[in-house]
Amino acid sequence: MASSLVTGPDSSALKRDQFASTVVENVNLCREHYRLVLRCEAFPATRPGQFVQVACRDTGENYNPESEFEWDEGQPLAPAGAELMQPLAFLRRPFSLAGRRDTANGVELDLIQRIVGVGTDWMSRLKPGDIVDVLGPLGNAFRLPGENEEALMVGNSLAEDVAGAQAVGIRAAWRRSAPDAEGVTADVTFDELSELLALPELQRTP
Ligand SMILES: Cc1cc2nc3c(=O)[nH]c(=O)nc-3n(C[C@H](O)[C@H](O)[C@H](O)COP(=O)(O)OP(=O)(O)OC[C@H]3O[C@@H](n4cnc5c(N)ncnc54)[C@H](O)[C@@H]3O)c2cc1C
Repeated sequence: MASSLVTGPDSSALKRDQFASTVVENVNLCREHYRLVLRCEAFPATRPGQFVQVACRDTGENYNPESEFEWDEGQPLAPAGAELMQPLAFLRRPFSLAGRRDTANGVELDLIQRIVGVGTDWMSRLKPGDIVDVLGPLGNAFRLPGENEEALMVGNSLAEDVAGAQAVGIRAAWRRSAPDAEGVTADVTFDELSELLALPELQRTP
């Protein structure tokens, strides 16, 4: 998480709240996964591991609930509004913060999401400039290793898990699978999770 110039409202003074954000981009990473970048004018300080709750439906000023309709006694109901005719994500949906950048134009939040239902499907169709209501930050942060402790990243992607961890100085164990990056060497390579803790590379030296 990089932090840089902030010229908008001072994010550090903000507390958890609801924030209107604008979609910067919504990138289709693969068949079901999207990286959504949202920009808020300001957003409270965040720590790795925290998440936000996203209102996965239009809550903007122009939102016009269509749940009321005229009914003439004796006549069959004829609902027509979107709220009645298609499923809507009524409750907010939680998403981990995959990144945060403090820029001259506000705070950018990255969410990486997989389409599994009505809310995530709605998110996948967001376009730059759309308004999204975000509540956060929420949850506990990851605990970083103490002085005599060490973190180990375990994953099966050389490109994402191994390179990502090593880029921030964390050792990485790679569960052997089809290599997805050249020039990336894991600190430890293994085949079965059951063998991981017994590997000599992971034994502490007194
Ligand atoms: C703290 C936290 C952080 C998270 N971070 C992320 C993240 O970074 N990225 C991410 O992709 N996800 C994340 N999730 C999961 C994400 O919140 C859910 O995928 C999301 O809420 C799904 O919302 P939806 O409206 O798309 O799905 P819903 O429509 O609510 O459906 C959810 C699941 O229920 C199933 N389902 C829905 N209706 C029915 C039914 N009638 N019968 C049977 N099954 C049904 C769906 O198939 C789906 O598997 C996180 C969750 C938590 C708790």
